[in-house]
Amino acid sequence: MKTVIIASNNAHKAIEIAEALDFPGWEFRTLRQAGISSDPAEDADTFLGNALIKARSAFAVAREAGLRAAVLADDSGLEVDALGGQPGVYSARYAGADGDDAANNAKLLAELRDVPDERRSARFVCTLAFVDEDGSEITARGTVEGRIGHELRGEGGFGYDPLFFPDAYEGKLSFGQVPAQDKHAVSHRGNALRQLRELLGA
Ligand code: IMP
Repeated sequence: MKTVIIASNNAHKAIEIAEALDFPGWEFRTLRQAGISSDPAEDADTFLGNALIKARSAFAVAREAGLRAAVLADDSGLEVDALGGQPGVYSARYAGADGDDAANNAKLLAELRDVPDERRSARFVCTLAFVDEDGSEITARGTVEGRIGHELRGEGGFGYDPLFFPDAYEGKLSFGQVPAQDKHAVSHRGNALRQLRELLGA
């Protein structure tokens, strides 16, 4: 059995990752389930930089605790073209408080109040950093293109999902309105995980 610690304090992301990487013989644990804590400052200015910070920090903490495990970290966010790519790496703390989805969505709607549909294009980006038991590193990246809506739609998913209308659904449904498996099939995290799966050859 191979143990992979998901280096995220975001329970939604941990669930999406564990569901997508259902390799036989692999078991996933959150930081909490592994009994360790790691919350480094995510002060890089790229998704890749922050994913590596999270993965390396959790790997070091796990080692110190005597755990022989691989680690997988995700850094992700939303890039809105009309805002010059913002909130980008600041997606979780866009409205200040880290991870306050309602406040972040309200701020995004306010910033885009006067922006017409044709200029509301955006993408989610996900970068994954995997540190294997022997310390070797693999990274993967996935994106999904879409548009920002004018109001929240759906209760599913997390973060900006109720405002993000992927092009794959022709603007008709937000990520908040579809079952988790449908989101995985086209999402940034799903795409990054499929790339990682291929790179791991598992
Ligand atoms: P991180 O935990 O620093 O990577 O922050 C990622 C932030 O980007 C989250 O808090 C969400 O606001 C946003 N985000 C990333 N992935 C998704 C997604 O799949 N759906 C909705 N929002 C997302």
